[in-house]
Amino acid sequence: MPREFILIERIAYFTMEIALRPDIPTYSGGLGVLAGDTVRSAADLDIPLVTVSLASRAGYFRQRIDEAGRQHEEPDPWDPARWTKPLQARVAVSIEGRNVWIGGWLYVLEGRMGGRQPVILLDTDLAENNPDDRQLTHHLYGGDESYRLKQEIVLGIGGVRMIHALGFRIHQYHLNEGHAALLGLELLNVYAYPSEDLRPGDTPYDIPRVRELCNFTTHTPVEAGHDKFDYGLVRNVLGDFIDLPVLKQLAGEDQLNMTRLALNTSEYVNGVAKRHAETSRQLFPGYRVRAITNGVHPYAWTHPAFARLYDRHLPGWCHEPELLVRVDCCLADDAIWQAHAQAKQELIDQIKALTGVGLAADRCIMGFARRMTAYKRPELLFSDIGRLKAIAAQRPIQIVLAGKAHPRDQAGKNAIEALHAHMRELAGAVPVVFLPNYDMEIAAAMVSGVDIWLNTPLPPWEASGTSGMKAAFNGVPHLSVLDGWWAEGRIEGVTGWGVGNGEASQDDAASLYDKLERVVLPLYYDDRPGWLAVMKGAIAKSASIFNSHRMMRRYASDAYVR
Ligand SMILES: *Cc1c(COP(=O)(O)O)cnc(C)c1O
Repeated sequence: MPREFILIERIAYFTMEIALRPDIPTYSGGLGVLAGDTVRSAADLDIPLVTVSLASRAGYFRQRIDEAGRQHEEPDPWDPARWTKPLQARVAVSIEGRNVWIGGWLYVLEGRMGGRQPVILLDTDLAENNPDDRQLTHHLYGGDESYRLKQEIVLGIGGVRMIHALGFRIHQYHLNEGHAALLGLELLNVYAYPSEDLRPGDTPYDIPRVRELCNFTTHTPVEAGHDKFDYGLVRNVLGDFIDLPVLKQLAGEDQLNMTRLALNTSEYVNGVAKRHAETSRQLFPGYRVRAITNGVHPYAWTHPAFARLYDRHLPGWCHEPELLVRVDCCLADDAIWQAHAQAKQELIDQIKALTGVGLAADRCIMGFARRMTAYKRPELLFSDIGRLKAIAAQRPIQIVLAGKAHPRDQAGKNAIEALHAHMRELAGAVPVVFLPNYDMEIAAAMVSGVDIWLNTPLPPWEASGTSGMKAAFNGVPHLSVLDGWWAEGRIEGVTGWGVGNGEASQDDAASLYDKLERVVLPLYYDDRPGWLAVMKGAIAKSASIFNSHRMMRRYASDAYVR
């Protein structure tokens, strides 16, 4: 391990997935993109992290859509040797009573301003292991419950052992979601009281000490979304790694609930938006859950045409995105419109190349892209095809869609098929395209190239959402249900527009159509200065706040230093 990385104490940041670069498919969606932006910001701000994740050599999957609009999953393997350096260190964890050996890879993330951050990708594909164990770190979110638990043992327990074996000195641990919560158990063993200090009947575990070391960011606002394992399975796989009564006290009586374990072993706990923190407090009464609202990395998500404008008129914005509040005063409308036109034309060209469909540059394009899963409600915009056609007959709209469904999420896959059926129903009236294989690159092209960014989740399921923040850096206003970050980011008619009132019972489709027909499209087509004011509002009042530099400075001041 290069000395520069072990010379100073670091925050150990644990995450199941991470979007390091488009060529490394070790992420499935927002959680991984957030992890990547976390490390990118840490690099720019010189906040020393050591990130621990899995090699996921088989990748997530490559999405192909057939004629009927059905998703097919194709392998998306990557070769760690191409981007990373192999680590010599080996550690072992006990799984089902046998030793599973873990090696790893060092990826060095280089920031925009010269900062360097070590990222360790754990890998069990070693000759020492049996064929099944060699596959344990291959498939991101693959396999069954038992496979998932084993992966979480490798990440949480193996990860702590690996960073210690590599010589890192750790100031604090940070769990990006509950997947890595088993690290708390490893720390309980590491910091256990020596047996000679114990009275009969005492447990050796110093829970307060471990809590002092751990920070937990929860991302899941509903009970069903949390990882849980039956204790029967836990006993088979993990053995007697920790006293069962203590484990049950920390992780739940009936099942091992990874969120509860993380809550009980972390002194600092936060949700990823203010509304999400409130929901989490209701879900887990008695815990102090704070809020650090997510953000996106300024440079990574800003189209080069906008980055050049900001560089010229607001130098330093990459380090201090707060400077973007000055956009109203420092940037000419023309220049903003031209930068947007360039990004839009590039998206139109890319769509033509990928799908053969030609969209018109002088007509409004709406974008919607995210993981395809039921709560994101990808079909909401299409719930009344007649109404949508009638709106588009007055003022034209064009729609660009993208998103992957998890291979076992049948509802998400059905939604992709349904979207394709809607495309056919709307043919001749509203051009709709679906870009296959949504990833960081397609996301960057879409959030900068469309005119309106749409989000229609079912409240309160959207813990934060981040793609609307990416749009804001490119002056693209957000039209979204009032959930996640938008519940605090929306200033009506200034940074974008709200849909519904943020309650699950609301008729969000009708609200969406009304808003489009009466407010958004008239402004776009009939009042260019008014539209540009909202574009500037998005940059000045959303991007300046909802970025990962602000987020990481908050983690540094509120969580890591305490
Ligand atoms: C930003 C991003 C996401 C997360 O977007 P949400 O708005 O949180 O749904 C998911 N996937 C990719 C590829 C992204 O770039």
